[in-house]
Amino acid sequence: MTDVELNKFDLFNPTEEHKMLRTMVREFVENEVEPQALEHDSQEKFNLPLFRKLGELGLLGITADEKFGGSGMDAIAAVIAHEEISASDPGFGLAYLAHAMLCVNNLNFNGNDEQKAKYLPKLSSGEWVGCMAMSEPHVGTDVLGMKSTATKDGNDYIINGRKMWITNGTIDENNTPADLVLLYAISGEKNGQPQISTFLIEKSHSGYSVGQKIKDKTGMRGSNTAELVFEDCRVPKENLIGHEGDSLLHMMRNLEVERLTLAAQSLGIARRSIGAMNKYATEREAFGKPLRSFGQIQRHIAESYAEFQAARAYVYNVARLMDLNKEGQRLDSDGVKLVATTMGKNVADRAMQVLGGYGYVGEYVVERLWRDAKLLEIGGGTIEAHQKNITRDLKDVTF
Ligand SMILES: Cc1cc2nc3c(=O)[nH]c(=O)nc-3n(C[C@H](O)[C@H](O)[C@H](O)COP(=O)(O)OP(=O)(O)OC[C@H]3O[C@@H](n4cnc5c(N)ncnc54)[C@H](O)[C@@H]3O)c2cc1C
Repeated sequence: MTDVELNKFDLFNPTEEHKMLRTMVREFVENEVEPQALEHDSQEKFNLPLFRKLGELGLLGITADEKFGGSGMDAIAAVIAHEEISASDPGFGLAYLAHAMLCVNNLNFNGNDEQKAKYLPKLSSGEWVGCMAMSEPHVGTDVLGMKSTATKDGNDYIINGRKMWITNGTIDENNTPADLVLLYAISGEKNGQPQISTFLIEKSHSGYSVGQKIKDKTGMRGSNTAELVFEDCRVPKENLIGHEGDSLLHMMRNLEVERLTLAAQSLGIARRSIGAMNKYATEREAFGKPLRSFGQIQRHIAESYAEFQAARAYVYNVARLMDLNKEGQRLDSDGVKLVATTMGKNVADRAMQVLGGYGYVGEYVVERLWRDAKLLEIGGGTIEAHQKNITRDLKDVTF
């Protein structure tokens, strides 16, 4: 096949706009993200000034409506941005994802026009940092078991409870809270089932504070993770998204793109790891021969490459089919995250193995990718949750 034929259909850059986006993000990553990644990882620090620059590039509101300051791009664009950033700094990429997907895309999808007009321009420019708070100290996968409550009081709701593991929950080392939290809390009960509702909590709302910044994480150390505390936090009723009890719908609508972009993070990790082991296997010699001449090293490289290509094709195909304004890819958004995250972890592990002792230290990057890769099997749904969901969704499917 000639180059021209190969380029007829490019699954990864289907339009000129996607191609330009990839080039722009890749340049930004090379020039600005890569040089700070190692230092921010070792200091466990979120790079807020760099994050704000993503706003100048139109990336913070990448999928948000242009009418409200967003870039109005599609799921493929979101995948491109997350893949490219995570090929350099998955921790910084996670902070980006928590803001742009968990908070901004969710609000864009589920909020009303007043809420979008009030918050999306500030979130898309980078003036405000957003996060999403679902998990709690005692509840993660079992969402309906959450304990945080929202009680109606005149024209307000009073929020009480604690949220755990919240990416961007604090934006610095002084426990400064995120500017906006998209929060899930129990607002009542219907037919014996808890009703979960979604709220927009601003930094200025009284009773909202950071309990602690969570330290000593294995990886993703370029993003801040925090526990949030809500003590009689008073929120105007205008900050309820949709109606009481709508949260399961909100979660379902947003989970597809969340899982897709988490899978895209793993693609970035794998691509960078393959690049590192492939180069090293040529440069490094043992027993008078380059490493790549040894069968066991060939297996590490070849299996990594083939598994990466398979996962990449799956991720971009699901992105191509995903309409951000509709549900419809539930099964395969679980599928891509299940496949890509374990692939990313395994590929980073093989890269470290190929680099030997050098692979085990920060300067050679793959050890950081190896640590970051593990989180993607846990956050945004554990791999066991994906297995459970996929098996449920396949129940009545014939092959
Ligand atoms: C760095 C980091 C960032 C995060 N960012 C956010 C964020 O921004 N917002 C947010 O809301 N949350 C966030 N989380 C939380 C994350 O989504 C949860 O950790 C995850 O959903 C798992 O929940 P859990 O930790 O409570 O584990 P659990 O749900 O208690 O699970 C523990 C183990 O039991 C397994 N398990 C549970 N139920 C079942 C079952 N039915 N069948 C089989 N196995 C089961 C799980 O798969 C897992 O292996 C983050 C977590 C981390 C570590």
